[in-house]
Amino acid sequence: MKGSEHLAAGPSNPAGPAGYPSAPFISRQGADLRYSSYDVLVVGGGIAGLTAALGAAHRWNVGLITKGTLDQTTTFLAQGGIAAAMSPHDSPDLHLKDTLEAGVGLCDGEAVRVLVEEGPARIRELEQLGTKFDKRDGKLILGKEGAHSMARVVHAGGDATGSVVASALADVITSGGRVELHENEFVIDLLMDGGRCVGAVSLGEEGELTVSLARAVVLACGGAGQVYSRTTNPLVATGDGHAMAYRAGAVLRDMEFMQFHPTAFYGTENPTLLVTEALRGEGAYLRDDAGERFMVGSHPRAELAPRDVVVRHMQRIFQRDGSDHVWLDARHLDACFLRERFPTVYNGLQKRGYDLCTQLVPVAPASHYFIGGVMTDTWGRTTIPGLFACGETSSTGIHGANRLASNSLLEGLVFGERTVRELNRYLAVADPAVRKVRLELADEPREGNDPAVVAEGRARLGRTMTDLCGMVRDREDLDKACKTIATLHASLAAPGLNVAELELFNLLAVAEHIVAAATLREESRGVHLRSDFSERDDVNWRLHTLVRRDPETGQPVVETGAVQGT
Ligand SMILES: Cc1cc2nc3c(=O)[nH]c(=O)nc-3n(C[C@H](O)[C@H](O)[C@H](O)COP(=O)(O)OP(=O)(O)OC[C@H]3O[C@@H](n4cnc5c(N)ncnc54)[C@H](O)[C@@H]3O)c2cc1C
Repeated sequence: MKGSEHLAAGPSNPAGPAGYPSAPFISRQGADLRYSSYDVLVVGGGIAGLTAALGAAHRWNVGLITKGTLDQTTTFLAQGGIAAAMSPHDSPDLHLKDTLEAGVGLCDGEAVRVLVEEGPARIRELEQLGTKFDKRDGKLILGKEGAHSMARVVHAGGDATGSVVASALADVITSGGRVELHENEFVIDLLMDGGRCVGAVSLGEEGELTVSLARAVVLACGGAGQVYSRTTNPLVATGDGHAMAYRAGAVLRDMEFMQFHPTAFYGTENPTLLVTEALRGEGAYLRDDAGERFMVGSHPRAELAPRDVVVRHMQRIFQRDGSDHVWLDARHLDACFLRERFPTVYNGLQKRGYDLCTQLVPVAPASHYFIGGVMTDTWGRTTIPGLFACGETSSTGIHGANRLASNSLLEGLVFGERTVRELNRYLAVADPAVRKVRLELADEPREGNDPAVVAEGRARLGRTMTDLCGMVRDREDLDKACKTIATLHASLAAPGLNVAELELFNLLAVAEHIVAAATLREESRGVHLRSDFSERDDVNWRLHTLVRRDPETGQPVVETGAVQGT
């Protein structure tokens, strides 16, 4: 820090309704202001944040903030497992080939190479930490999922991989005492000093504000599935990391790519229960209302085609039959095996009145994984000095236009660990003085927004995104979505110090960026389907989309960027 006395939180010159409220993003509003300081501040306690915090704590003083508890993460819900070339019949080259094929021309080749080559070592480290992966005769049992050419998905507790892995990492964090953990603390914005990120400001359960000064900040805030009304993502997945990085001036990449999972339980809950792809890997079928296996003959891998392909065919069935769901059929599989291998899905369906072993299960697509993220290199570096990102918040380029199943837990592990290696280099030379500066924060009273208005705003945004910028998009709908989002934004008063309000503003920002990038990309590729540009266009569109905030106008600038060798 270069001796400045005052820090800026969020955008320095926020703009009008289509961007951010014209007052600063937050106001102190008389709240107590506390200060703390770290070498490294990690925001997020999923697989990426836990990996980064644990690794960094070997050398540095680390703070870890999560807005919920450590079991309220997407990681905790993960079912299928972690993909890695662990079998003697497999190789990183084969894993690379499958990942590139699924990513339809937009993967960053170097990043994928790093992922597949370093993945197996990270899995072995997880085992050394105490993770009990499922084994038979001392050997890992490997599952098969869509678009993988072979069985390579390591799993734990049958289909409870996420909770087993997260618990193992969390145990080390909470028992080791090397990481200062703050749960139920909502990070509002990043602190910037002279173009460098130097910490974050957060809101505690009692309404107090904490200024966490840090020589480096790691954003690991997960995804943004909650932008849509039907999602498998937990309530915390509101794109806060994307939104605060954008406000601070970081570049976001490929925001149009939201992956919809084909087989989420057909119901109205938020979040909806995922019916893991690993079930299809074990031989479950997809059937239409007439009982036909519609994926047979539609793709050589039938039900195990890449997710975007399955979703496209489901969309075709919905249009043909006037329906909005299809059926998952596991009745021909051994009942004991199903109960033992898929306890989460089996019990979850039982609670909802379905028996996986004897009944057809209604399923429909739901937003599931956000490919768009804060652009990083293969060391977790964003475009802002001092700001790093890993996990679902980041865009490392490994997923291209369509994520290969079970590559995201792996991404959190591999790039979380690489971020630590980069932090070690960065902190060895970066200015060590984290001064007790004061945060320059407006202190005007704010009424904020009525909770009912906020709840209705979130619901309306979800419906708008689902109806107008969901699995299939066109220009007319995207324009309508853009207008609705701007109107919704403009109807809100500047946010008070309240998590629901702050989340809504973040969701609106992310939605605005998804719509803007989806409008720009005039082709269909991977998870982005445009009915008005239904073909993939490699001549004009083998490009990334980039979104950044114009510091002069405060408005988003959407442009294209080159793809690094696939
Ligand atoms: C139902 C389901 C099943 C899945 N199954 C698989 C699978 O089998 N294999 C696979 O590879 N992938 C799977 N995925 C995807 C994968 O689970 C996620 O991509 C991955 O867990 C994301 O990890 P993360 O560490 O990036 O984020 P998360 O695990 O989502 O953690 C995000 C953290 O950030 C915190 N946070 C967010 N905003 C703030 C804020 N403002 N202030 C403070 N803290 C904040 C949250 O509290 C949380 O601690 C699945 C996803 C879902 C929804």
